[in-house]
Amino acid sequence: SGGERLDKVLAHMGIGSRKDIKKLVRAGRVVVDGRVVTDAGMRVVPWEVSILVDGEPVDYRRFIYLMMNKPPGVITATADARHPVVTDLLAEEHRVLRPFPVGRLDKDTEGLLILTNDGQLAHRLLSPHRHVPKVYYARVEGQVGDRDVAVFARGVTLDDGYVTQPGELRILHAGDVSEVELTIYEGKYHQVKRMFAAVGKRVVYLKRMAMGPLWLDERLAPGEYRPLTEEEWRTLM
Ligand code: URA
Repeated sequence: SGGERLDKVLAHMGIGSRKDIKKLVRAGRVVVDGRVVTDAGMRVVPWEVSILVDGEPVDYRRFIYLMMNKPPGVITATADARHPVVTDLLAEEHRVLRPFPVGRLDKDTEGLLILTNDGQLAHRLLSPHRHVPKVYYARVEGQVGDRDVAVFARGVTLDDGYVTQPGELRILHAGDVSEVELTIYEGKYHQVKRMFAAVGKRVVYLKRMAMGPLWLDERLAPGEYRPLTEEEWRTLM
């Protein structure tokens, strides 16, 4: 990866304007990995380099933690040849720190997506051994009933023979199109859609409401995001 321009990154860290930083560089006051910088446009990966300004370390190794309400039509990735991706929705000041999505939502799925550059946190949240609960709201074609609740509570056999962990299905509204809340403790490919397919029903709308202790901030419109609060961050650590 090529990194980002040093002047841009330092400006985002609050060291000064890009013009200020060019002046500092010209005066030989900026040191990267032990070498005096001669080019303010040199590429750096923010959390992989050591930087001194006037001999003082600049805290570059910054982690970022964002909560997004993923909109439909956007791919959960950092790059795609054909389609817009979730990181396209980020402001430059956040994108510069290279966050990536924690886990995947389908292109048409909405709701809670955590983006971070903290690989350890991502690993903890996604590890199959931790059974981190994920709560989904779904609209499903067909009458969802107590039998479905019982099947989901035992574990559902998917199309490929895999038997899911027990899931908690709560019926919010039963009708031609039913509304449900489903909590699952793993994250197989298309899991929610395939669980309903296994009981002969089709998911027509899917939104993730929670991941572990973190609930989607309902004030975020689809496509909006915000940094986690200190308190939210603590619940994840
Ligand atoms: N289950 C699905 O089927 N799709 C998602 O996006 C998430 C969970």
